[in-house]
Amino acid sequence: MFTCDNLGVNAAGRLTFAGQDTADLAARYGTPLYLMDEDRVRHNCRVYLDAIRRSFGDGSHPLFAGKACCFTQMYRVLSELGMGIDVVSCGEIHTAARAGYDLANAYFHGNCKTDADIAYAMDHGVGYFVVDSAEELAAIDAEAARRGKKQSVLLRLTPGIDTHTYAAVNTGKVDSKFGAAIETGQAAELTAAALGLSHLDLAGFHCHVGSQVFAEDVFERAAVIMLEFIAAMRNQHGFTARQLDLGGGYGVRYTEDDPVLDIAEKIGSVAAVIHETCARLDIPEPAILMEPGRSIVADAGLTLYTVGAVKRIPGYKNYVAIDGGMGDNPRFALYRSRYTVLPAGNMDAPRPFVCSVVGRCCESGDIIQENVPMPEDIRRGELVAVCTTGAYNYSMASNYNRLPRPPIVMLHGGESYVAVRRESLDDLTALDS
Ligand SMILES: *Cc1c(COP(=O)(O)O)cnc(C)c1O
Repeated sequence: MFTCDNLGVNAAGRLTFAGQDTADLAARYGTPLYLMDEDRVRHNCRVYLDAIRRSFGDGSHPLFAGKACCFTQMYRVLSELGMGIDVVSCGEIHTAARAGYDLANAYFHGNCKTDADIAYAMDHGVGYFVVDSAEELAAIDAEAARRGKKQSVLLRLTPGIDTHTYAAVNTGKVDSKFGAAIETGQAAELTAAALGLSHLDLAGFHCHVGSQVFAEDVFERAAVIMLEFIAAMRNQHGFTARQLDLGGGYGVRYTEDDPVLDIAEKIGSVAAVIHETCARLDIPEPAILMEPGRSIVADAGLTLYTVGAVKRIPGYKNYVAIDGGMGDNPRFALYRSRYTVLPAGNMDAPRPFVCSVVGRCCESGDIIQENVPMPEDIRRGELVAVCTTGAYNYSMASNYNRLPRPPIVMLHGGESYVAVRRESLDDLTALDS
């Protein structure tokens, strides 16, 4: 009936999330409201931590991809659990540092790090840089030389895999803006360049083949291509990679049509392929890293809205307008992402009224979801829940139309607390002269 077992219905016919009544939470904190099930975040992290430690050799561990959902309390939780992190900007580094997170466990990604980014990351002791280009390699070497240190790096490569997912979340193909392609020889050139720079310590290689991946063998195929490259570099340069980072990307259930993934089992089958391939190529097995973002936070998130208007255009279309929209969740506007949308205060009624749930922004594309079944009598003041919003909602939110961003309320052990407060109107003008 639900996409995740942290959802339910109570005796009053209201949607519950992490065991708590969503209508009570909306009354207490207001809408629009991001809820985050902290216990689910912890559970999802532990699935990766246990499976990776069990399946791979020493030094193997998961990194949370901060871009999926980044705020201070999130990093406090990650730090407590012993999760590594991947960061992509000074803002994410600053947030992690503010949480007291030890940045020696951080991997700095991105295809256009500036000199200022590189210096800031080194100031904060970021453990690894994931290098995307020859220019960046030279810039990191120069900054490390100025500081009289050696900086550990991985090289981002593109293994040339088409994951058949939506183009904007498909990054493993040869023509990607990210990384250096193995197929064209550019990956080998970047490796030779890295090995020739005296202030870099090349730890290994990284790839990221896509997001929202369900396909059976994507990670296995990527791992084989990457291990064959590692073996080739061992033959050519006598260089043995210590780390192989397979990136993020496991899919989550946005609707009941999406399959249920057993991530521990998936990781087990990737491990079997890695053991076999390393034996075949006669190379030592590198430590394996994975970078889940979405699959750590997506199903831990839920957004609550209040209905403002219901519009019936006979013979055409029905609309339910809510007090949020593309400002707090731009994903339908960007990728036509699917979501499960529920009448949170009235879960037991039949839902014959098919409508588009739309936001309040001055933009026709401001749609949360189309073809949503709702109760016939849905009206102003009622509560709407959008499920599985923990990933790429808050982190992609904007102040379009000068709308304040919603708060994040965390749910933990039957209690709730504000982890990010609601933006005020004064926050919106705080930077204006
Ligand atoms: C986006 C991204 C991730 C996380 O992807 P998910 O689909 O959220 O798991 C991990 N690594 C890199 C390099 C990414 O770009």
